[in-house]
Amino acid sequence: MCVIIDASLAARIFASPMQEDFVPLWNWVRCRDGCIVYGGQLAAELERVRQGARQLKHLSAAGKAYRVPSESVVAETRAVRNLGICVSDDPHVIALARASKARVLCSGDRNLHADFKNLRLLPAPKGRIYQNAEHASVLRHDPGCIGRRRN
Ligand SMILES: [Zn+2]
Repeated sequence: MCVIIDASLAARIFASPMQEDFVPLWNWVRCRDGCIVYGGQLAAELERVRQGARQLKHLSAAGKAYRVPSESVVAETRAVRNLGICVSDDPHVIALARASKARVLCSGDRNLHADFKNLRLLPAPKGRIYQNAEHASVLRHDPGCIGRRRN
């Protein structure tokens, strides 16, 4: 992957001690070549979560998190809104995936899951959802994603 962490699961993902559901996710990011992408409105949302700001800072310094420039997220958010087909109220998350080419999303929001898998909103490869340890197989990079380009 590169993986996007949505605000709906952020408190659990950044929780200390680490929750079982997110052990494969953190192993991928911390011990292998996984990368968290964030930016725009979502950056502000994640930084408000307890431990979120501190962990993102450490991960960024270690090259394991990447902040997508706000301008590209804002431009993509506008493009997504203009399509007028989002069922979630999170066009900024879809926009981040378009800007970064990340196709893995950690979210508990079913409407956002639907948008993330909608190929009209987010072009192929089709978006994948991670919510718990059973979803470890979705954790991989995609063509052109930021983490792959950097490695
Ligand atoms: Zn990647």
